[in-house]
Amino acid sequence: MKFGTKAIHAGVEPDATTGAIMTPIYQTSTYVQRSPGDHKGYEYSRTHNPTRTALQQNLAALENGKHGICFSSGLGAIDAVVKLFNPGDEIISTNDLYGGTYRLFTKVFERYGIKFHFVSMNDTKEIEAKINANTKMIWVETPTNPMMNIIDLKAMAEVSKAHNLILAVDNTFASPYLQNPLDFGADIVMHSVTKYLGGHSDVVMGALVVNDDELASQLVFIQNACGATPGPQDCFLVLRGIKTLHLRMERHSQNGKTIAAFLKNHPKVEKVYWPGFEDHPNHEVAKSQMRDFGGMISFTLKGNRLEDAKTVMENFELFALAESLGGVESLCGHPASMTHASIPKAEREKVGLVDSLIRLSVGVEDADDLKNDLATALSKI
Ligand SMILES: *Cc1c(COP(=O)(O)O)cnc(C)c1O
Repeated sequence: MKFGTKAIHAGVEPDATTGAIMTPIYQTSTYVQRSPGDHKGYEYSRTHNPTRTALQQNLAALENGKHGICFSSGLGAIDAVVKLFNPGDEIISTNDLYGGTYRLFTKVFERYGIKFHFVSMNDTKEIEAKINANTKMIWVETPTNPMMNIIDLKAMAEVSKAHNLILAVDNTFASPYLQNPLDFGADIVMHSVTKYLGGHSDVVMGALVVNDDELASQLVFIQNACGATPGPQDCFLVLRGIKTLHLRMERHSQNGKTIAAFLKNHPKVEKVYWPGFEDHPNHEVAKSQMRDFGGMISFTLKGNRLEDAKTVMENFELFALAESLGGVESLCGHPASMTHASIPKAEREKVGLVDSLIRLSVGVEDADDLKNDLATALSKI
């Protein structure tokens, strides 16, 4: 089955009792047993819930994996992955990581004796320099936030295999429509389902997809033992959101291309970060592992003044200033004062994250209206 068909049908069967075409919201915490241990596969909703099962199977199919495992947030999913490891184990990760992941690694799991290394992943030598007998996992995010760097998944899989490490990829920015990391040799794919998969800014959820049965059973054990599971109503909403994932991603990518080109030619804009540009330093890698380039764009302003960035964001009518991304509506964010405020200014600026950098999550509205909104806001500076 191709992607759009899977998005609509995978994991979803007409309801056995009524024929309802949509998976019902099984709003129940428990399930009646005929006799102790004699049940229909469902005992308690932290462990299993039919609405969640449908979603997990759907997500597994979209990522070309065997097992989908859902969590109550993206961070809940990452938390479960790190719980595979023991004190003394080491994990290597990217140096421009999602802020919440960085916080979870350094502020929570370092206290439990797990050691993290943050390196640039453009060069596998930097990774190999950090690998030792305690290294257990490489954690990758691509495209990165907000600089839109692309990390070569095949190269990461080669390093991981050579050293017997688990390769985990946060695929939130790309969504399964644009990129399927398992196909390039990753062992674990992680999603903040909150973003493109949910797609309508109405749910917070996370997910993992894996192929390996043993790895899946360890993660399912953690899912149940630690209990960060989503409720059935949220699973229903995400199943519904996913039915249009392919349509939304096509339009996000089309609009992304239009807006990126518009910004690149705008006299007040200094630099535009978008992997679809031929002069993006990782464009060839992006082309080799992504189906299209998506609607996440960052740009900076000439003169690099914080006040100018504020003026632009205050004057948007359509681009709402808000955390998050991946919804049908366009959003903008200011990483230097929002998601990346806890990183010292000098550190931020080393990777290009300057005060005038604005990040856009280009929605699926009409591109002409989005261009007009940007033109009006930019005309105020
Ligand atoms: C939002 C996000 C997360 C965290 O997910 P939540 O659902 O907010 O817990 C992790 N990684 C990336 C890339 C994100 O954008």
